[in-house]
Amino acid sequence: MTWSAGSPIVYREVWQGKVWTARPVVVVRDTSQLIALYLPYGTRWRVPAGDRMAYFDYLRTGHWTLTETTWLPGDTLLLIPPGEAHAVHAMWAPDDRRFVGWYVNLQEPARRTAVGFDFMDQELDIWVAPGLSEWTWKDEDHLARAQADGRFSAAQAEAIRAEGERVVARIQAKASPFCDGWETWRPPADWPMPGLPEGWDKVG
Ligand code: MG
Repeated sequence: MTWSAGSPIVYREVWQGKVWTARPVVVVRDTSQLIALYLPYGTRWRVPAGDRMAYFDYLRTGHWTLTETTWLPGDTLLLIPPGEAHAVHAMWAPDDRRFVGWYVNLQEPARRTAVGFDFMDQELDIWVAPGLSEWTWKDEDHLARAQADGRFSAAQAEAIRAEGERVVARIQAKASPFCDGWETWRPPADWPMPGLPEGWDKVG
């Protein structure tokens, strides 16, 4: 089963069988080559309550509650290669919608669910400037902290970085999805702001 374009679904991070975050998104494309999901500026989504550094404790203990917040980075297109351990986020500025760059999120391969797709973040990220001339690792300290907390083994942390290195090679080669013209993508004008679908909070 695949989702048709325009379907409102939920893109969730799930940890220890519980929802960690829930982003309502609109399906742009769902094929064996690419899952593309649209997360509009201003979308109301769910995140763990508390500050970012408390997140490490929540993940270690398995205790957290969700709160509603607003997606403020700007319009975002999530480009997810099926079976691969990363997503590439194309991002536009909230004010004038100029293309600001690519955010590579290292994460578990997306799993298809009855309400959308599930995965879990793997802490390490890469920021890529428009034009692909500059890129930089982000949150290496977060990966180290997660490894110290026992969330990732040394082998897992190495695999996460290796996936990042594969994406860096694609950036340097100006390969897909970086060469596919997504910078000029725009949502159809009649797409409403997505909300969370029924069942967004049920896992498994
Ligand atoms: Mg990340």
